[in-house]
Amino acid sequence: MKRAFVLGALIVAGSLSMVAVALQAPGGQRGGPNVAGIEKVKDNLYMITGGGGNTAAFITDRGVVVVDTKLAGWGQAILDKIKTVTDKPVTTIINTHSHPDHVGSNEAFPATVDFIAQEVTKANMEKQDAFKGDKARFLTKRTSKDKMTLGTGKDQVELYYFGRGHTGGDAWVLFTQARVLHAGDIFAGKTAPLIDVMSGGSAVEYGKSLQKAFDTVKNIDTIITGHSPLMKPADLKEYADFNNDFITWVQEQMRAGKTVDQAAAEWKVPAKYPGYGPPAPIFGGIKTNIQAAYTELRR
Ligand SMILES: [Zn+2]
Repeated sequence: MKRAFVLGALIVAGSLSMVAVALQAPGGQRGGPNVAGIEKVKDNLYMITGGGGNTAAFITDRGVVVVDTKLAGWGQAILDKIKTVTDKPVTTIINTHSHPDHVGSNEAFPATVDFIAQEVTKANMEKQDAFKGDKARFLTKRTSKDKMTLGTGKDQVELYYFGRGHTGGDAWVLFTQARVLHAGDIFAGKTAPLIDVMSGGSAVEYGKSLQKAFDTVKNIDTIITGHSPLMKPADLKEYADFNNDFITWVQEQMRAGKTVDQAAAEWKVPAKYPGYGPPAPIFGGIKTNIQAAYTELRR
């Protein structure tokens, strides 16, 4: 899980040669098939773990709705786990955002599948070599903007966009009657976020977007995170507070005339957020987030 998360970060950083090295690093799958895990979240709703971001599989009358397809090479592992809970075919794939550990195995599914993503995410996917040429058939076919509803009753799925954060096209996927929200990587876990500025991410908007999700989506009891175990709405609220408090702190540093380096050297995890940490060092640690906030706040 952690390794895949770092992979996503590497790709965000745009260093494809480093990604190639990481893919061959010890600890990867060697000599055998990739094997995912599966966890029942609710009746007809499962979380499939391993190989990148957390995947959701939602069994409807028409077929299976899959949210996020992990890294390349994990399509069969996803299908194998779905087969343990239903014979129905995958009919819909929703990508929460454009990173390769969430869209990497789109190509393992039939091109007849209904591929859906937020419109900015589609634009971000179109820039990737993985979706060029004949691979373009695995790109988003239908885009959402602020809200999109699929199906009705117990099969209803809603896509929301609450603003910029991890990227500029982070979709939140609500399984309405199951009372479960898939957050993707805008809530990857309880740590300082990766902010993919090149894909439209925003340090300043991050906490506001999280708060808007918390305020808008009320009837839920469970959250599927991008890369961590299941969480509760109170965890989302805490994560919004963490990110908004971070911006308040950055503003204080700017007012005190500190440089990004000075602020980064002094940053500590606030005592009220135990267990949180900075982004991975390979991604520049907390300095990257401070720099992003400084740049946005100075505009
Ligand atoms: Zn991501």
